[in-house]
Amino acid sequence: MISQDIETVLLTEEQIEKRCVELAKQIEDDYNKEGEVPIVVGLLRGSVPFMAELIKRFTFPCEIDFMSVSSYDGTESIGDVKIDKDMDLSSKERAILLVEDIVDTGRTLSEVKKMFINKGATNVKIVALLDKPSRRVVDIHADYIGFEVPNEFVVGYGLDYNQKYRNLPYIGILKREIYE
Ligand code: 5GP
Repeated sequence: MISQDIETVLLTEEQIEKRCVELAKQIEDDYNKEGEVPIVVGLLRGSVPFMAELIKRFTFPCEIDFMSVSSYDGTESIGDVKIDKDMDLSSKERAILLVEDIVDTGRTLSEVKKMFINKGATNVKIVALLDKPSRRVVDIHADYIGFEVPNEFVVGYGLDYNQKYRNLPYIGILKREIYE
């Protein structure tokens, strides 16, 4: 049972769902005002459960796509961001809503946002389920944040450790003995 490897549950499934309802409403109000049809772009693979929870609540027209970038190995963030799988739709002259699991150092989102602007996106917004502000090294601002979390390695609800634990329905702190 993967739940045995969890030290503490930080956010329950109910808390996450409740927050997703609020975030979806806030995002919807903003896009309705702007009247744009955004492409909701999920960063694989950590954003998948969060993105599913959000988009089913949107009532405005949107398209969805995914891309995969890598910048993280084990529990420590590493330098540059590399595109492993690009999105299929064109982002030129489109509004983009980037969906990410967690903003840690901020390097990934900062690079991906720059890339979209270079490719001619008209507007790039970011929604992240979790934020670890104490770890930030790049000045990046997420437009919508689910929860702030302490500087601990968290897993579940899309977030992994060596590709495991993404399927936990809650966010938990992994027992140190698992990765030390
Ligand atoms: P950043 O570029 O902001 O440093 O890193 C973002 C990526 O690092 C996230 O998409 C996520 O994959 C990974 N990451 C950062 N903190 C954590 C964490 O506490 N747990 C897990 N599982 N991944 C994390």
